[in-house]
Amino acid sequence: MIGAGIGGLCAAVRLAAKGADVTVIDAHSTPGGKMRTLPSAAGPVDAGPTVLTMRHVLDDVFAAAGTALDDHLTLLPQPLLARHWWQDGSTLDLHADMDASAAAIAAFAGARAEADFRRFNRLSASLYTAFDAPMMQAPRPQMARIALNALAHPTAWPALLPGRTLTQQLARSFQDPRLRQLFGRYATYVGGIPDYSPAVLSLIWRAEAQGVWAVQGGMHNLARALAQLATAKGAAFHYAVTARKIESRSGQVTAVALSDGQTLKCDAVLFNGDPAALVAGLLGNGAQQALPASAANPRSLSAHVWTFAARPSGPDLALHNLFFASDPALEFGPIAEGRMSTESTLYICAQDRQSQTRPPGPERFQIILNAAPKSTVGELDQCRTRTFTRLARFGLTFDPMPADQTCTPPSGFAALFPGSQGALYGRSPHGMLASFQRPMARTRLKGLYLAGGGAHPGAGVPMAALSGRHAAEAIWNDRALT
Ligand SMILES: Cc1cc2nc3c(=O)[nH]c(=O)nc-3n(C[C@H](O)[C@H](O)[C@H](O)COP(=O)(O)OP(=O)(O)OC[C@H]3O[C@@H](n4cnc5c(N)ncnc54)[C@H](O)[C@@H]3O)c2cc1C
Repeated sequence: MIGAGIGGLCAAVRLAAKGADVTVIDAHSTPGGKMRTLPSAAGPVDAGPTVLTMRHVLDDVFAAAGTALDDHLTLLPQPLLARHWWQDGSTLDLHADMDASAAAIAAFAGARAEADFRRFNRLSASLYTAFDAPMMQAPRPQMARIALNALAHPTAWPALLPGRTLTQQLARSFQDPRLRQLFGRYATYVGGIPDYSPAVLSLIWRAEAQGVWAVQGGMHNLARALAQLATAKGAAFHYAVTARKIESRSGQVTAVALSDGQTLKCDAVLFNGDPAALVAGLLGNGAQQALPASAANPRSLSAHVWTFAARPSGPDLALHNLFFASDPALEFGPIAEGRMSTESTLYICAQDRQSQTRPPGPERFQIILNAAPKSTVGELDQCRTRTFTRLARFGLTFDPMPADQTCTPPSGFAALFPGSQGALYGRSPHGMLASFQRPMARTRLKGLYLAGGGAHPGAGVPMAALSGRHAAEAIWNDRALT
């Protein structure tokens, strides 16, 4: 297995639990891939995913190994999903309890907005139900079942009109522009811009509305627990080793050549890196032919990500916070043209606010600004101003100010995840057919499989975990053939 990201780890647990002989190698020195930590004065800060949704997907992984997630990790359900802030001074909390969210929206923008929200909530739930089994849970999208499910859910129809974008749907769903902006933001969770993303991405809200969990001790503990479980089931892990070439003979994978000079013979290879690396030929010619270029291009969004410890002053932060740009066009217009946003929406995770108790000293923070995948020179200065000068306008300051080295720019992600070009979510989700163009677990090269955010069903921790299940099942079912 090449890669110990969440997709690779979930596949390793499932295959090792079935008795397969599993070896996992990763170029990094710890498991988790994007689910990584960086050091700070207050301890390791989560530098990747922080919002954990759809925990049932992870419960299934532990159950497949005959154990329970709660025996390995403590997940803390979050009654407050996120706190949202606008430049005009308005704020809105959304809650795990839908009636509490509806009441908050009524207080924020009136009875009409509350009715809009309740209607959008039903639309999102219908879409989620229609797409869950035949898209997310299925090894490949099942068009006929999607169509039947869609017919059975008339509330979902408006979002399924050909060519309808998320922005267009939200313009119909909400009168209040702030709510359009808030729910449009969910496109960025899978690396898209709302103007170009299909309206069906309205279903992401449902995934979050079903609950958000924090992992006690940090999200990276999830990766560590999965690696420990796979090891307990017999998988071997080798870190700080890069796969240089996937070798094949007569159209069948035979071995993986490693950076330490070793060659591992194998019947099957699961590639958990970005499929764009295969398309670029980074793993050799055989693997390059395994996918069409359209499986990796166009690319999804990247980000500038700050991770640091400091004492905050100003507004009362929750665990998850969003400080919105004054106009979505200022954020997404430049990004669509491959430039840095004129004004970014800033996501802040205040990691130490998982529970009521606050640490006495500096706290750990992650701040994300969406970005185009390829970075340009001089961006860091602009990024600093666009982060901390803007937050100061909301009254939020940090002491000490984070150093430049605490920011990972798109070029940093490009270096960390070879072939990705800095894109964090694989292929772009733009366009009606994007979900059907992502590569599936099986490739054209016999014995080469894919799992991860760049493969079906897509990016985000639960989706990458599902891709791990699809890949493990494909490998297991095909084993007699190899
Ligand atoms: C800043 C940030 C915030 C995010 N926030 C959220 C969030 O809140 N909620 C959420 O659900 N999702 C979030 N995501 C997305 C989520 O983290 C990813 O979709 C998911 O973790 C991707 O997992 P993956 O299986 O694709 O593996 P990856 O994390 O991409 O890991 C792939 C691994 O493969 C290894 N690898 C690749 N090529 C080779 C090679 N040739 N040799 C050896 N090893 C190799 C890499 O070293 C890496 O460790 C976020 C992502 C980022 C970056």
